[in-house]
Amino acid sequence: MHENRKSVNPYRCPECFAKEIDIMLRYDHKEEEYYCQKCCYTGLEEEILRFYEVLQNQKYPLMFVPHPWQTEKKIDE
Ligand SMILES: [Zn+2]
Repeated sequence: MHENRKSVNPYRCPECFAKEIDIMLRYDHKEEEYYCQKCCYTGLEEEILRFYEVLQNQKYPLMFVPHPWQTEKKIDE
């Protein structure tokens, strides 16, 4: 009896990903949430997606920090 099985998307564990460990979450059909076998993270899909956004927002601001070459006007020739 496998009726009404929710389709499961593959997600990386955000907790592990933050520590640069690349591991996929598993889906618990009984609890209807994703879980990580490595760090015991559990979360709903929307929580995982929110976590991804936080990770992105933490990384993108670094793109707007001026590179030392941009602030240093003096070029030694
Ligand atoms: Zn994990």
